[in-house]
Amino acid sequence: MTQISKHFTRAENACRCGDCNKFGADIKLVQAMELLREHFDSPVIVHSWFRCREHNNRSITKKSASGVYGAGSNDKSWHLTGSAIDFHVQGVDNAMVHHYLRSKYKGRHGVGIYDWGIHLDVRPLRADWDERQESDLYPA
Ligand SMILES: [Zn+2]
Ligand SMILES: [Zn+2]
Repeated sequence: MTQISKHFTRAENACRCGDCNKFGADIKLVQAMELLREHFDSPVIVHSWFRCREHNNRSITKKSASGVYGAGSNDKSWHLTGSAIDFHVQGVDNAMVHHYLRSKYKGRHGVGIYDWGIHLDVRPLRADWDERQESDLYPA
């Protein structure tokens, strides 16, 4: 297993489509994920990181496709450059992970919270969304 950093492997970073074998990770995101991994001292389960365009198109969910920010699931998806990651931290509440990220990165990065976990991207400006079924973070 090729490591791309202390806690993350090339396999975790690579596209999951099954046939492109592409990969790529923004170093700012790798560093942010290492800090997060050490803060919680618990394994990070990666759902999706780098995505080729075909895989990214298939990853669009109805909700995010119509949303203002989306889940990074359009042509401008940060996943296409490995600048976004979908994950959860083993044994840690998603809301706690979200709180950690927003306390740390107040004016930048995209942070989305879902029932399955967290999307983080290292965009220079700030973006937030809450796609949980029972959502109370950003009341309408
Ligand atoms: Zn692919
Ligand atoms: Zn994502």
